[in-house]
Amino acid sequence: MNRTVIEPGAILGVLGGGQLGAMFAGAAHRLGYRVAVWDPDPDAPAHRLVRHSYPRPFADRQTFDEFSDLVSVATYEWENVPAALCRELERRKPVRPSSAVLDIIQDRFAQKAYLEAQGFPIPNFSVVTSPDHLREAVERIGFPVVLKTATAGYDGKGQWRIKSETDLPEAHRAMKESLQRGTRWIVEAFVPFERELSVLVIRAVDGTSVVYPTAENEHEDGILRATIVPARIPTPLAEQAGALARQVIERLNGIGVFCLELFQLPDGNLLVNEIAPRPHNSGHYTLDACSVSQFEQQVRVICDLPLGEVRLITPAAMVNLIGDDAANVTRGDGCRALLTVPGAVLHLYGKRTMRPRRKMGHVTFLASEAEIAWERAVMLRDRLAKAATS
Ligand code: AMP
Repeated sequence: MNRTVIEPGAILGVLGGGQLGAMFAGAAHRLGYRVAVWDPDPDAPAHRLVRHSYPRPFADRQTFDEFSDLVSVATYEWENVPAALCRELERRKPVRPSSAVLDIIQDRFAQKAYLEAQGFPIPNFSVVTSPDHLREAVERIGFPVVLKTATAGYDGKGQWRIKSETDLPEAHRAMKESLQRGTRWIVEAFVPFERELSVLVIRAVDGTSVVYPTAENEHEDGILRATIVPARIPTPLAEQAGALARQVIERLNGIGVFCLELFQLPDGNLLVNEIAPRPHNSGHYTLDACSVSQFEQQVRVICDLPLGEVRLITPAAMVNLIGDDAANVTRGDGCRALLTVPGAVLHLYGKRTMRPRRKMGHVTFLASEAEIAWERAVMLRDRLAKAATS
């Protein structure tokens, strides 16, 4: 096994320069590393923070040569970077998680087929290769279902709920509109979950792993709205979620930071919704509520340094600032009002353009009791909802 520690001072490469790349860069800098960001979007926030910035297309050969010469190791901040690029980079430098793992994860169909083949609990699903096969697939699973593009979907993009027969024509139309060569979809049983949970697993080069406490998530329109940690569930269930997440990543032989999103059913059983091969929005609380954040873990794990502790120092609740929320929260007296709330920590991502449904920042509330943190989070969430409708 290649166990070369990548020492502080080295240059770490990250594909993707959104807020996750920016937070990775922050953690890397604190540990004395330099960072190279490759993201085709010149406005991606991480570009402004790093010494080596490549705002060039992922297909650019010259950038490939420069980037791969420069970095000692590479990672990525989201699963939609080209797996072929990771595969090619891997011939020159370690890429963590590997391109083989990315190949499985970045295609929902491949991911679900893999999880099913390994015997992990997942919702019933069926692959759809043409809009004209939608009805047949839905009939196989039975109403209600969720239709999802197999690739490139995130934050609820490329997803349609089909509750009954009457929603079929609309979904069919949406499929035709998003149709590109080779597009595939999956139709998945709609899960009447009790709760959504997520678990961060960090797995090192030597196969050891650490698992953060199970978090509980609330989504709106397919986007994460809020997280509370520890999850408000019995300890054995939280432990079961942690054990399941660890097993999935072990079986995958994943090296890096992973997040498992889970559905808790009313009978207490768990289903795997999806795996993210990177730090996750529901793990942002680790920046303020843990001694070692998920981003520092990402640095440690790709550099083959010892993994950090995953202890929750204080209960926490996080609220995402989506679209207009960031302006609503900071305008006028908003910022003062927010920052006078005890334990409130504001993170703004510095994105130059606001778009609806775009994640612009988040607020973490720290408190001695999870319920107190949650109350404060709910107050902000409700304030934002009111501002959005007024
Ligand atoms: P995903 O991108 O697949 O994680 O979906 C985003 C969110 O949509 C999830 O966190 C759930 O809130 C919801 N969702 C996705 N798939 C399902 C499903 N099969 N049943 C119920 N809700 C779902």
